[in-house]
Amino acid sequence: MAATEFLNFIDNHYLRSSEGKSFEKRSPVDGGLVGRVWEASQHDVDSAVKAARAALNGPWGSMALTERTTLLYEVADEINRRFDDFLDAEIADTGKPRSIASHVDIPRGAANFKTFADVVKNVSSEFFEMATPDGRGAINYAVRVPKGVIGVICPWNLPLLLMTWKVAPALACGNSVVVKPSEETPATATLLGEVMLKVGVPAGVYNVVHGFGPDSAGEFLTRHPGVDAITFTGETRTGTAIMKAAADGIRGVSLELGGKNAGIVFSDADFDAAVDGIARAVFLNTGQVCLGTERLYVERSIFERFVVALKERAESLTPGHPNEPDTGLGPLISLEHRDKVLSYYRRAVEEGANVVTGGGVPVMPDTLTAGAWVQPTIWTGLADDATVVRDEIFGPCCHIRPFDSEDEVVRLANDTPYGLAATVWTQDIARAHRLARKLDVGICWINAWFLRDLRTPFGGSKQSGIGREGGVHSLEFYTELRNVCVKL
Ligand code: NAD
Repeated sequence: MAATEFLNFIDNHYLRSSEGKSFEKRSPVDGGLVGRVWEASQHDVDSAVKAARAALNGPWGSMALTERTTLLYEVADEINRRFDDFLDAEIADTGKPRSIASHVDIPRGAANFKTFADVVKNVSSEFFEMATPDGRGAINYAVRVPKGVIGVICPWNLPLLLMTWKVAPALACGNSVVVKPSEETPATATLLGEVMLKVGVPAGVYNVVHGFGPDSAGEFLTRHPGVDAITFTGETRTGTAIMKAAADGIRGVSLELGGKNAGIVFSDADFDAAVDGIARAVFLNTGQVCLGTERLYVERSIFERFVVALKERAESLTPGHPNEPDTGLGPLISLEHRDKVLSYYRRAVEEGANVVTGGGVPVMPDTLTAGAWVQPTIWTGLADDATVVRDEIFGPCCHIRPFDSEDEVVRLANDTPYGLAATVWTQDIARAHRLARKLDVGICWINAWFLRDLRTPFGGSKQSGIGREGGVHSLEFYTELRNVCVKL
């Protein structure tokens, strides 16, 4: 793919940077130049927020719900028409295998617009009749009004999917947005601007500012007094900084943060299905999925057999170029992230891990040696307080530990500051429901992983986040409920 320019998208115009600052985006596959990203200045972020505010006071603000949702269906259709452009852009930025991006990232990006257009059309309002002393009574009904200008800060692991998961409901509810994509993945957010232009979304409704976090576009946006609410997906540490920024002006935040998710396999589970599911949960997207499993607990009677089976799965994953059909594993997002993951690989050994497989860098063909490759890795034998059992690594790796009882495994699984997701494998239906109640997580899969119905609540407990998005739950964040009381 030829190197390109990633411009800011403000008020329906593509712009460089008013301060002329830019940085390179390099491919995690081979280190080649993907493009030059124009970093938004404070002035550019001001312009984006101003355009977003003006949109609310213009045609977008007065647009009928059906017209607005029709536009969102057209956005979804246009993403699908330009499916290959989005696919190529996402692959160039992330290096993820074409098989994943074409089945997960891009279809879900389009689906988000359709889903939330449907959700807002079908939500009804509260209504209460009340008595009054004069006997004539009054009625109350609640209307949903947009919150205003929404700041959307995105990570790099599922760029289009996670951005549209927030942009689609925000727009469906009548807000305008200023999006700050990750500095690692500027492409699909930029491309979405072309879609908005094509289908006729009014100027200022969808804006994109590029850059980094601290002292750059991310911080300029989250500190901006013209932003009414902030929705963020990323690391827990960043979420803390964003929550502090949002305190000024008492602005709402929705935070989807990190996880250190447990997988639990009981001896009565369908063994092959559990191995399949857990292999996906550990290695999909090279382990760069917030819902992924990095701590695995397997009932002792099947422990050895399970470790061998998962090892075979790990070793069958072929790292390679995203466009090769037999590629099963892409690179990590960047060399910097690879350094972090490899430091955990070393730490595991220092703390006494038995390395079942992996633990280093795979041998790659000459053309790919500059990429951010790591081996899928499995450890056993670590203490429960070992660093790789505690910290979120965000790589293709897991630690497997045997357990002997249900109570023990619940205690182990909950022994983490995070509370995002769990995946439980058992054929005992009562036990499955018991665990779903006892595990302190936002989403608990039984005999499944990453099975998502977009109408359901999504979010984390403890340090994995605040709030729920998905279906009508997104409306709670992206609208204010206004009560109207009418004396009869
Ligand atoms: P990150 O927190 O480093 O960055 C996310 C975004 O925040 C980027 O756009 C970055 O530029 C911006 N940012 C950084 N510092 C900022 C600041 N001070 N002010 C404003 N913006 C700032 O996260 P990442 O490395 O891109 O993504 C990986 C993390 O995201 C993992 O922890 C993963 O678990 C989490 N994640 C969570 C979910 C979820 O739904 N819970 C989904 C995907 C990823």
